[in-house]
Amino acid sequence: MMKRREVGRSSGRRSRRSCREEPHAPIRHAALTRRAMASADPQTTRLDFLVIGGGSGGLAGARRASELGASAAVIESHRLGGTCVNVGCVPKKVMWNAAVHAEYLHDHSDYGFEVESVRFSWEALKAKRDAYISHLNRIYRNNLDKAKVQNIQGHARFTNDPEPTVEVDGRKYTAPHILIATGGQPTVLSDADIPGGNLGITSDGFFELETLPKRTVIVGAGYIAVEMAGILSTLGSKTSMIIRQSGVLRNFDSFLSTNCTKELQNSGVDLWKNSQVTSVRKTEKGLEVTVVTKDQEKKNDEEKTSTIQEVDCLLWAIGRQPNTSGLNVAAMGLEMDERGHIVVDEFQNTSRPGIYAVGDVCGKALLTPVAIAAGRKLAHRLFEDKNDSKLDYSCIPTVVFSHPPIGTVGLTEEEAIRSRGKENVKVYKTSFTPMYHAITSRKSQCIMKLVCEGKEEKVVGLHMQGLGCDEMLQGFAVAIKMGATKADFDKTVAIHPTSSEEFVTMR
Ligand SMILES: Cc1cc2nc3c(=O)[nH]c(=O)nc-3n(C[C@H](O)[C@H](O)[C@H](O)COP(=O)(O)OP(=O)(O)OC[C@H]3O[C@@H](n4cnc5c(N)ncnc54)[C@H](O)[C@@H]3O)c2cc1C
Repeated sequence: MMKRREVGRSSGRRSRRSCREEPHAPIRHAALTRRAMASADPQTTRLDFLVIGGGSGGLAGARRASELGASAAVIESHRLGGTCVNVGCVPKKVMWNAAVHAEYLHDHSDYGFEVESVRFSWEALKAKRDAYISHLNRIYRNNLDKAKVQNIQGHARFTNDPEPTVEVDGRKYTAPHILIATGGQPTVLSDADIPGGNLGITSDGFFELETLPKRTVIVGAGYIAVEMAGILSTLGSKTSMIIRQSGVLRNFDSFLSTNCTKELQNSGVDLWKNSQVTSVRKTEKGLEVTVVTKDQEKKNDEEKTSTIQEVDCLLWAIGRQPNTSGLNVAAMGLEMDERGHIVVDEFQNTSRPGIYAVGDVCGKALLTPVAIAAGRKLAHRLFEDKNDSKLDYSCIPTVVFSHPPIGTVGLTEEEAIRSRGKENVKVYKTSFTPMYHAITSRKSQCIMKLVCEGKEEKVVGLHMQGLGCDEMLQGFAVAIKMGATKADFDKTVAIHPTSSEEFVTMR
């Protein structure tokens, strides 16, 4: 059984009190007062919009609501900015940038530079990264103040009051509109799941590492596992990845999954396919990780048991769980799925009127810009009378910061065939060595695929891995969202010499 960590309580500043004069009067843009007033229950602070979770979705929703005239408050139990700023996208990208530096060092002599005795300091990098994150935390705090959004520090929990009410450190808050934006956290393994399982860390722990591990084992095949393996291995940690099947990124287009698996191996990551960790033991020289591997060549999937010795970093990257366990959502009777995600409709409504949810806690498209956009759209619907304001979840572009990076948007070839039939799907593919590598001894390929549907060859999917693909995707995502066809791509004059020109010259 996998366990979820409770989001801890933290004492802290008390909120300023704020409420509307008529608690249930319809909300009018710019006509709202932000004066504090006691509600029917003098213990309860009343607002227009109460947001639980000061991460990507919650902050965006609260700020937009306030701009639209609502009195809003955000309750946050940890650091403002949530996963993305503190233990996700932002510090991850800093580490990826460092790893890209390490990669380029291999090419310096090919480009005529003589660079001797390069030394890397994880400690110096971490200090700069942490300072940057603290700076961002302060900016988020200032932005809330500027937007006149209250920041309530502490752990929120629904009470059993008849009117939906949230309690933080013994104080009660209510609003006609309550948004749950509590995000998620990495799945952790207990000793009951795997003996010694709790000797490992998760992506949260990765950002606390004070030194570069010498010997790393990463368990998992999703994008976080791939990114962490790439960073650690490129920066010099001997890294093994334990994956249950034969490839990583199994939910991605198979072209990407196969290529990324190959690139990881080429870059020196020791990939244990068809394998699972069965136990972990602490020894004097570090952790000993026992792995069982299915031998697919042999009859009856014979199993082989091996150990990896002297591991100083075991990182579980086996999925994420929604942060709902400490919220007492049961008191609200909200519909949840079997994994604890809050079920919402296309307008982010939960099963209880007046309570909404956005972002990772809903379990759909776990990405920062998705949470932000959903939070803002909701604010426009609630406080600007834009009744049809909702996020379109189709064609969401995303990048995996692997080495080299992956960019992907729209349907995979497999999904397109399933929905439209093989005869209605046409695929264009290419793979080549980017010009950057023409004179380097280190090589990495660029692969590209267009998935087109119907006679008009509407581009419904675009997938790529290679140098620069991270920055290449956004513009193509606009074209695809607008309904571009292969002919539109072909009509566009190429930019030479780039890798992206391949997308408009494919035959
Ligand atoms: C390692 C890693 C790398 C990632 N990289 C990317 C990337 O490159 N690009 C991308 O788009 N996305 C990335 N993501 C995903 C992205 O971080 C999330 O999708 C995004 O942060 C979700 O926003 P959210 O508002 O739903 O939740 P969060 O940002 O997680 O915010 C939720 C907040 O709610 C607080 N909270 C929870 N429960 C309570 C409570 N009861 N009371 C008070 N506060 C509470 C939490 O402390 C947290 O601050 C990454 C994630 C990880 C883990």
